[in-house]
Amino acid sequence: MEEHVRICHFRNHYELTRKNLMVKNLKRYRKFLERESGRLEAAKCDFFPRTFELPSEYHLFVEEFKRSPGNTWIMKPVARSQGKGIFLFRKLKDIMDWKKDGTRSEEQRDETQVESYVSQRYIENPYLISGRKFDLRVYILVTSYIPLKAWLYRDGFARFSSTRFSLSSIDDQYVHLTNVAVQKTAPDYDPEKGCKWEIQKLRRYLTAKHGSETVESLFKEIDNIFVRSLQSVQKVIINDKHCFELYGYDILLDQDLKPWLIEVNASPSLTASSQEDYEMKCRLLDDTLHIVDMEGRLTGREKRVGGFDLMWNDGPVYRDDVNLETLGVSCFPANTHLGCINDRDKQLRQLLKPFPGQKKT
Ligand code: ADP
Repeated sequence: MEEHVRICHFRNHYELTRKNLMVKNLKRYRKFLERESGRLEAAKCDFFPRTFELPSEYHLFVEEFKRSPGNTWIMKPVARSQGKGIFLFRKLKDIMDWKKDGTRSEEQRDETQVESYVSQRYIENPYLISGRKFDLRVYILVTSYIPLKAWLYRDGFARFSSTRFSLSSIDDQYVHLTNVAVQKTAPDYDPEKGCKWEIQKLRRYLTAKHGSETVESLFKEIDNIFVRSLQSVQKVIINDKHCFELYGYDILLDQDLKPWLIEVNASPSLTASSQEDYEMKCRLLDDTLHIVDMEGRLTGREKRVGGFDLMWNDGPVYRDDVNLETLGVSCFPANTHLGCINDRDKQLRQLLKPFPGQKKT
C-alpha cells in the first residue's frame, strides 16, 4: 500500500467483532490476568454474560445449564447481525440441533453442518425506563493496536424496545431485542418518535435519579469494558499503520447499574432513523476523518479532536483540567466524556489549521 492509503478495518477485525471469538479472547485474557496479576485484576473482566459456543462447547454448556435450572438463555448466530436468527430458551430440547452436531464425526458434520451459535446467559433483570428495556450504542475509534491508541466519542444513544419488559413472553422479540432493525417492524412503531434517546439524555436521566457519584462510577465501569476488551485482542489483531477501526459497542445495564458487554460491531449502522440521528452520524464520520487525518492537519499529540477524546494511548490518558498533585494516583480522572456536552465546532475551530488559501473563520 502506498504511504497515504488508509483502510477502515484491521485485517482480522473479526477477532473482536464475531460473537464467539470476542468471548474466546476475553476468556483467555481473563486467565492471563489471573495468572499474572491475581484474581482481583482478573475480576475486572467480568463484564460479559456466561457464554458457550455451540455446537463445539455443547457439553460444557449443558453442565452449566443444569447447575442453574430455570434460567433463561439466549441463542445468537455468531456472524449475523440486526437480531437475525436470535431466540430465547429455557429448555434443552429447544436446541437439540446443536447437540446432534456436537456428536457427529468430522465427515458427517461437513454434509449437514448446523450454523455456529453462541448460547449466552440472558440478562433477566435489565434496567428499565418506563418499563422498557434498552441498550447503549457507543463509538470507539482505534487508530493503532501496537501501541494501543483508542478514542471515545461523546455522542451515542440508547435503543429502546417498544413493548414493556416481561419474562413471561420469551418468544416476543419486540420485548427482548433492542435492535432498531427489529423494533422498527413493531406494529405500533412510530417513526416520528423513533426508539432512541441521545446518550446525553440518558446520562441526565440517570444522574437525576441516582446522583452524579453513582453515574460517574457507572461510566467508569463502561470505560473499563472498552479498554479491557481492546486489550484482550491487542496481541491478536494484525496491526498496520494504514488501518483504523470505528467500533460500535453494545452495552446493556442491569437493575443494579452494572454494565454488560453484549457485542462489538465492526461496521456499526450509519443509517439514520431521524434528523437528530442523521446529524449525529455526520458528526461522528467527520470527526473520524479528522483523526485519520489524511490532510496532515494534526500534530499527533492531541487529546481531543471534535467529539472524540483520547481514552488510551499505550496507557490511560488523564484530563488536563485537574490538579494532579492534589489527587492520589488511583483517582486521576480519565479523559473520557461519554454523554457529556459535545461542543465540537468550537474545539475544531481552535484545533485545526485552515487549509492553505482558506480564510480562518
Ligand atoms: P445482533 O448482532 O444480531 O444485533 P446482539 O448480540 O447485539 O446481536 O443481540 C441483539 C439484541 O439482543 C441486543 O441488542 C440486546 O437487546 C439483546 N441481547 C443480546 N444478548 C443479550 C443478553 N445476554 N441478555 C439480554 N439481552 C441480550
